[in-house]
Amino acid sequence: MNVVYLDNNATTRPAPEVLDAMNPFLTDCYGNPSSMHTFGGQVHRRIEEAREHVARLINADPGEIIFTSCGTESDNTALMSAVESNPRKRHIITTRVEHPAVLNFCHHLGRKGHRITYLPVDSRGLLDMNLFRKSVDEDTALVSIMYANNETGVIFPVGEIADFLADRDILFHTDAVQAVGKIPVDVRMTKVDMLSLSGHKIHAPKGIGALYVRKGTRFYPYLIGGHQEHSRRAGTENVASIIGLGKAAELALAHLEEERLSVSRRRDRLEQGLLACCPNAGVNGDSGSRLPNTTNISFEYIEGEAILLRLDEHGICASSGSACSSGSLEPSHVLRAMGIPYTGVHGSIRFSLSRYTTGDEIERVIAIMPGIVKELRQLSPFGRDTITCPK
Ligand code: PLP
Repeated sequence: MNVVYLDNNATTRPAPEVLDAMNPFLTDCYGNPSSMHTFGGQVHRRIEEAREHVARLINADPGEIIFTSCGTESDNTALMSAVESNPRKRHIITTRVEHPAVLNFCHHLGRKGHRITYLPVDSRGLLDMNLFRKSVDEDTALVSIMYANNETGVIFPVGEIADFLADRDILFHTDAVQAVGKIPVDVRMTKVDMLSLSGHKIHAPKGIGALYVRKGTRFYPYLIGGHQEHSRRAGTENVASIIGLGKAAELALAHLEEERLSVSRRRDRLEQGLLACCPNAGVNGDSGSRLPNTTNISFEYIEGEAILLRLDEHGICASSGSACSSGSLEPSHVLRAMGIPYTGVHGSIRFSLSRYTTGDEIERVIAIMPGIVKELRQLSPFGRDTITCPK
């Protein structure tokens, strides 16, 4: 059975071009980039080329890119650096809908005595900018607000936040793990101080990420040791994965616009097809400001896990906003922050597409899903209804 992979916000398939680019660095070109000899030096040069590609994707300077092991490390590094570099200030502003890589680090800092403001979102997953502006005070050291939400795809007004913070002595970090490579991200236009990205969300392998740090930003390394990455991130480089990330960034930039359009067309077709066939279903998150590849749909009165299991029997991979399927026993903190009713949170499914998603795959999901919903609703203690499919 061919797998229909619609879980690209969890991770993506490594692009064949990426694997080809990496291969020599897993076989013949194994020199240490810090070595004095030519064998190591040539690897060093290729790392710098990869850095240029990553920088170009977000319109940064190569010197502003630090390679890390993942998005989580980039997020943790940014937050830690911000509090270390300004110990007198103790206030951090973030949102209730961040990824745990930011949220749990904020909880950690809260336990250490920092004051954390967790901004709410409305029922469409949008921030109240007035509330944001009011929450900034003299003691604010850092604002960390994501570029786009991993569960709903909702995009935050990062440029507006950056403009507001520009003349204040407050660092602004954005977790752009889900945004980079899917929508244009330009750190010259959107003046963030730090930005996190992750390789495995853009068709590079797992275990590689990057942190953008604007030139002149106070920075404290998280990993301390050797002089790699200009002493900003110690540890011998994950060479092959860095090369892979460079190639993935090059591909993402070259095809950004065309992929944004083709992926969003498929996503919209999926969404419309499912909403037309399944009563009591609705999209979570603002449709006007959303990543092109993501849709989060609540199928009320059924358990998301049950849907996922049925989809899995058909070789369809998606994820749910509730319980065990997302690796946690809690229902989605994002949907709860949006005030989605219990029945909606528990019946929510995230479909996330990629450049490899085909129209046939989308039609297969649209054909299969109504039967699954009908069957599960009949089993549901909450109610039964019928499924009507347009001809
Ligand atoms: N931030 C966001 C918004 C994410 O979606 C993820 C992963 O899902 C991360 C951070 C963590 O990235 P990584 O898996 O590379 O640690």
